[in-house]
Amino acid sequence: MGTAAAAHLAARGQHVRVLERFSLGHDRGSSHGLTRIIRLAYFEHPAYVPLLRRAFELWRALEARAGEQLLHVTGALDVGAEGSEVFEGSRRSCLEHGLTHEVLTGRALRERFPAWHIGDDAAAVLQPDGGFLRPEACILAHAARARQAGAQIHEGETLLQWETTPGGVRVRTSIGVYEASQLVLTAGAWMGALLPDLASVMQPERQVLGWFGVTDHAAFAPSRFPVFVHDAVEGRYYGFPEFETPGFKIGRYHHRGEPTMPDTLDRACHPEDEAALRAAVTRYFPGADGPLLRSAACMFTNTPDEHFIIDRHPDAPAVLVVSPCSGHGFKFCSVVGEIVADLVMRDATAHDISAFRLARFTAGAPPLPGGRS
Ligand SMILES: Cc1cc2nc3c(=O)[nH]c(=O)nc-3n(C[C@H](O)[C@H](O)[C@H](O)COP(=O)(O)OP(=O)(O)OC[C@H]3O[C@@H](n4cnc5c(N)ncnc54)[C@H](O)[C@@H]3O)c2cc1C
Repeated sequence: MGTAAAAHLAARGQHVRVLERFSLGHDRGSSHGLTRIIRLAYFEHPAYVPLLRRAFELWRALEARAGEQLLHVTGALDVGAEGSEVFEGSRRSCLEHGLTHEVLTGRALRERFPAWHIGDDAAAVLQPDGGFLRPEACILAHAARARQAGAQIHEGETLLQWETTPGGVRVRTSIGVYEASQLVLTAGAWMGALLPDLASVMQPERQVLGWFGVTDHAAFAPSRFPVFVHDAVEGRYYGFPEFETPGFKIGRYHHRGEPTMPDTLDRACHPEDEAALRAAVTRYFPGADGPLLRSAACMFTNTPDEHFIIDRHPDAPAVLVVSPCSGHGFKFCSVVGEIVADLVMRDATAHDISAFRLARFTAGAPPLPGGRS
């Protein structure tokens, strides 16, 4: 989110300084692990679809500028029983927004995509525009764009404290002190440390991803295996075709339900972590039930309703609080960069971000029309 915001702000002529405590593209936060799903049929709520359309356009524009592929289209499957949140929410998004899609029975899913082993009673939405982004490459591309437009990016410099001043903000870092008219906080799982009063609505949670050895590589190739979200009885899983590194990559939303702190995150993959993932691999993807080839620990930063936060700080209007995560934010980075630039420069944006206000947690207002389905 930080490099995307910097790219958009610098491209519009703003003087931008980025502080990154580690290095660009590191593996200590929420944006590593080679792939992130991007999908247009949005089971979380149809109101995200206009943002997604713009996110797709901006990713394509960034790719063209960077001269490398960042977004790989595989199609996206949203699978579950009829009545499940993933299947019904995805279909609702398609119908409300006129998205191209097909509804498949479990049998049709198996016939079209032979890596799947699933019962006839399953149902799936197949939306052809979905696919995956390469997160580390996306970050570097946004950073390169920001630098080309004059932004200064300070790697290895930690923001320690901020305070408001009559002219804006003053920040103290591990290296120095800076003043600025505005501060955009995009610290991911570290937001709570910088905003203790808001920490309760930005809770980091441990996740573990696994790459499992595949026997039939053709069935798990990007051309044959759409990215997916699957509401299974074992949990809600998401997965990817084999790409860049051997193995079928799978994760489970809210993995083992472990709140964490970013500086003490347990990065090891324990037998219980592997078992939580293998439960779905064995049952639904027997052709990938090989050895665990690779794993990665990562963090969600969850809000209570799992929708994003993009808002001004209630007591410090010069500070923007930007936390679009709850496990589904990466695909939005490109459009979040545009939104942040709009807010910094005009204090308004044409995008509808009314659902992402902080006040919903204090005032008790429902975040989106109808709430989460
Ligand atoms: C396992 C996993 C799978 C996911 N899958 C998907 C998916 O398929 N699709 C999708 O759209 N989303 C997905 N997400 C969610 C998505 O990855 C996140 O929403 C997104 O990466 C959040 O980006 P961010 O910029 O807020 O956080 P980060 O990328 O973690 O960036 C925060 C940055 O702030 C820096 N920082 C923190 N504190 C300071 C400080 N004090 N001073 C200086 N720098 C600081 C950190 O070092 C870090 O680089 C997934 C997340 C995880 C963990």
